[in-house]
Amino acid sequence: MKFTFDIVHVPGKCLITADTLSRAPVNHTFTPEELNNEAEVKVFVDSVVQSIPATEPRLREIQQKQHSDPVCAKVIQCCKTGWPERHMLPRELSEYWSEKDNLNLAGELLLRGQRLVIPQSMRKEILKQIHDGHQGIVKCRARARQFVWWPGLSVHISKVVENCNTCSQHKAEHREPLLTTPVPERPWQRVGTDMFFWNKDTYILVVDYFSRYIEVAKLNVTSAATVIAAMKETFSRHGIPETVVSDNGPQYASEKFKDFATEYGFVHITSSPRYPQANGEAERAVATVKGLWKGGGEKTKALLSYRATPLECGYSPAQLLMGRQLKTTLPQQPVTLLPRWPNMKQFKTKQRRYKANQQRQYDQRHQVRPLTVLQTGQTVWLPREKKEGTVVQHATTPRSYIIDTDEGQIRRNRTHVRPLRSPERSELTVSTQQTGVEENAGRESSIPSHNTQDTVKPPYVTSSGRVSRPPKRLDL
Ligand SMILES: [Zn+2]
Repeated sequence: MKFTFDIVHVPGKCLITADTLSRAPVNHTFTPEELNNEAEVKVFVDSVVQSIPATEPRLREIQQKQHSDPVCAKVIQCCKTGWPERHMLPRELSEYWSEKDNLNLAGELLLRGQRLVIPQSMRKEILKQIHDGHQGIVKCRARARQFVWWPGLSVHISKVVENCNTCSQHKAEHREPLLTTPVPERPWQRVGTDMFFWNKDTYILVVDYFSRYIEVAKLNVTSAATVIAAMKETFSRHGIPETVVSDNGPQYASEKFKDFATEYGFVHITSSPRYPQANGEAERAVATVKGLWKGGGEKTKALLSYRATPLECGYSPAQLLMGRQLKTTLPQQPVTLLPRWPNMKQFKTKQRRYKANQQRQYDQRHQVRPLTVLQTGQTVWLPREKKEGTVVQHATTPRSYIIDTDEGQIRRNRTHVRPLRSPERSELTVSTQQTGVEENAGRESSIPSHNTQDTVKPPYVTSSGRVSRPPKRLDL
């Protein structure tokens, strides 16, 4: 049996199709022009119904549910008899009003343009089908736009996708904006440290955040004790910094290092495990040293050359740290080697500009986006560990959290933590209100907001300050 209909075109921009003209449900005398259009309209509606990828029983089911749905039934009635003025409509119908020119009937099947109007009772199931394959919001909306419609559909789709745990777990990681540290007030106030390998040897590096002066020492054994000894050696030359930044490697995370920090009286900050970007200054210094050494020349000479070469601010690391130029193998006038402090004001302005530029470039390159702040008690997914956890609290390091897992508490950077929906929201809630728009949900662009309760509400004041009073409703 084919799902075809006879067509009647009625003024009021509603398209009515009925099984036969004699059953046309309106008292209307058709003009010759309207009757001429009939064939055209019939072809249109037939093609629409045939293009919907649903079986005939399924279409009949939708049609039947449209008629048993109190709101859809009224919309169908409006399509047949014409739409009253907007203010005369019961509130549950007003969100259909702006679509009245697109709402039409194919026989008794309610369509919006070429899309099936889905009644309340079927929306949850249809949303699930739209999200089959766990595609993103844009793709799900595109998929829905082909075949189905109801007021607030776009918002419902974004809620389904945002609250889908499978999607949260597999969402591609993106980087956060670069976190730049302010330029310290003075040399050797804040230093970064890291270890690296070079030609099978292990080295420790300490870099000053202020001057970018780099100290390097070879380690014969990679233990906390040798790391501490190397740092003490460096501190004996330049003094003890206020702050030491490192990654979370075992030597830095050891009890011995903690004792060292206490004894020497500096603050030790470690970056989140698996997020060494937070130790960026030392990471960059490692890259600089490796760049200097790759030529294969004398390592110390290469370091001397770096320390004596002006940075982008115009001053060399040695000038910024010691207030004097270093004598190198290059011929130099003795006068240039006299101590002379750089112009600090100028230097700081240049540094700020340099950092801002660095940040802009990083952010552009990685198309960064700030991530939401996590709340205590929030259930999260740890993609690297492939397990769930609960947020205990913010860690002292920026953008990191202490997460409680079945294997104890761990610290992770926000980039490696995906919020999951909370248990009370584990089920998709599509409201049973007749309007079909769930609580707090926005609406598709042209649909205005209104109350769904039949209680008398105080006048609503618009953003422009206009007081809007509820209109008198027509009881259909
Ligand atoms: Zn999903």
